[in-house]
Amino acid sequence: MPTYTRKEFLGLGALLAGGVGCAGQPGTEAQETGTGEGRPPDLALVNGRVYTIDDAAPQAEAFAVTDGRFTAVGSTDDIRNLVGPNTEVIDAEGMTLTPGFIDTHCHPSGVNELYGVNTNLRTVAEIQAVLRAKAAQTPPGYWVSGFMFDDTKVVDGPLHRTHLDEAVPDHPVNVAHRGGHTAWYNSTAFALAGITRDTPDPPDGRFDRDADGELAGMVAENARRVFNGVGRRDELTPAQRRERAREGMAHISTLLTAAGLTTVHDAGASRGKLVAYQDTYQAGELRHRAYIMIRGAYQALRNAGISTGFGDEWVRIGGVKYAADGSASERTMRMSTPFEGKPDDYGILTMSQEEIHDVVEEAHRNNWQVGIHANGDVTIDMVLNAYERVLTEWPHPDRRHRIEHCSLVNPQLLQRIKDTGTIPTPFWTYVHFHGEKWQAYGAARMEWMFAHRSFLDYDIPVPGASDYTPGPFEPLMAIQSMVTRKDFNGQVWGGNQRVTVDEALRIATIHGARASYEEHVKGSITAGKLADFVMLERDPHTVDPDDIKNIAVIRTVVGGRTVYPATT
Ligand SMILES: [Zn+2]
Repeated sequence: MPTYTRKEFLGLGALLAGGVGCAGQPGTEAQETGTGEGRPPDLALVNGRVYTIDDAAPQAEAFAVTDGRFTAVGSTDDIRNLVGPNTEVIDAEGMTLTPGFIDTHCHPSGVNELYGVNTNLRTVAEIQAVLRAKAAQTPPGYWVSGFMFDDTKVVDGPLHRTHLDEAVPDHPVNVAHRGGHTAWYNSTAFALAGITRDTPDPPDGRFDRDADGELAGMVAENARRVFNGVGRRDELTPAQRRERAREGMAHISTLLTAAGLTTVHDAGASRGKLVAYQDTYQAGELRHRAYIMIRGAYQALRNAGISTGFGDEWVRIGGVKYAADGSASERTMRMSTPFEGKPDDYGILTMSQEEIHDVVEEAHRNNWQVGIHANGDVTIDMVLNAYERVLTEWPHPDRRHRIEHCSLVNPQLLQRIKDTGTIPTPFWTYVHFHGEKWQAYGAARMEWMFAHRSFLDYDIPVPGASDYTPGPFEPLMAIQSMVTRKDFNGQVWGGNQRVTVDEALRIATIHGARASYEEHVKGSITAGKLADFVMLERDPHTVDPDDIKNIAVIRTVVGGRTVYPATT
């Protein structure tokens, strides 16, 4: 495990003013030196097919790195001339280099991946088997909890409360959908929470019923809150839980960087998660850079005078995060037209217009970026109402509030997003991975969903987002999905929204950097910027577009250090 030089935390002002890492003009001269005061570089990469994502010099063969930053970009001959006795030279042998990939909405934890019951399985019997095995090791009264369940990937579903009762009659059971908005519970769990067939649905959630009116097991959105404080979760001490969180973060960081990600935006951290980032970073085990949107700890940080941008180039505080409607993949997002074949189902709102206005005003006036989860067109409209209001009342030259997901748009919404400088963060692996779910929206509506092409056409610098665990985080799958708009069966969804490979690479790099105000320090291979890059076995421009996701990541480098493959 490499250890990283720990830099002092920098205040907001210096970073947002672009005062860090902006040495030199982009890539005009191979000999240009961003840092390192003219001494030979620490690292030289030569014989590459380098896509810089820098308009001043879009292609190169080689670059040099000193003190974790690119110092020169040019031809192999140019860069070889800079090499000194202590320079590490990487011969790319014609392979492809791009800036490191940036995922602008992800939920990395790693704790479930290390310790949880993975219910990403294809049959009810397989799910029952893993829950039964876990229950056998779990003391009475404690929860048996599954994660990564996906209703449409189970061939003999739907999963029902009675399936869970058969497998685990005595412990409370919950099986959380990978999308994060629904979960399935057994009869013991419902009994502990006092929920019966006669319990009404709350306004911001739903207890699914079967044809007889009995609880079916699935619970949506905020109706899941009835299980808070019910049953016992684990036997860990606070210190053990903290240690487990650090181990999980180190684990997921390894997985993310192996896929070519060098920066990942965490879409909602509580206090415990912030501590996990700190512990992982201080242990030298954080391999990717984190931009952390805040959920539970917002008030405390704001009261301490902290706001968006605080931190350093590894761990930085992002915006404050809220969620105003349901899910795309779990078919609960709030729309102006109903789901296909369900004329009364328009989806679920989880915040009112007044609540949205209040949280946006509070954050905006305290110099925080806001990121509000809004999938459906109704919800996106409500969020834009709030952004338009605060930007009129308290103007800001470059606030960049965000709409997380921003799944279903139309020309009016696109124009308002453009006019307010709002950053949408649409799903980028969903078309490919979740194809079977798009029948619930229909072909016509899919022409306006995950609308990367439309955002680009409106000159909106749209980034990409996996929302992992809801979507896979592999950025090459994302590029294939955005370029082809094909699902894993080859069916096209919204072919009008296709982007080119070049556009997909910009979405995955420089546009991602912009979503955290960091386009001056990352997102392209430019002298002076952080040396975050990926070496790919094959060129996504020249392979069959249906094969892009199979391109191997050969090496991932963050700040000039190889983080994948692991060297120690
Ligand atoms: Zn999310």
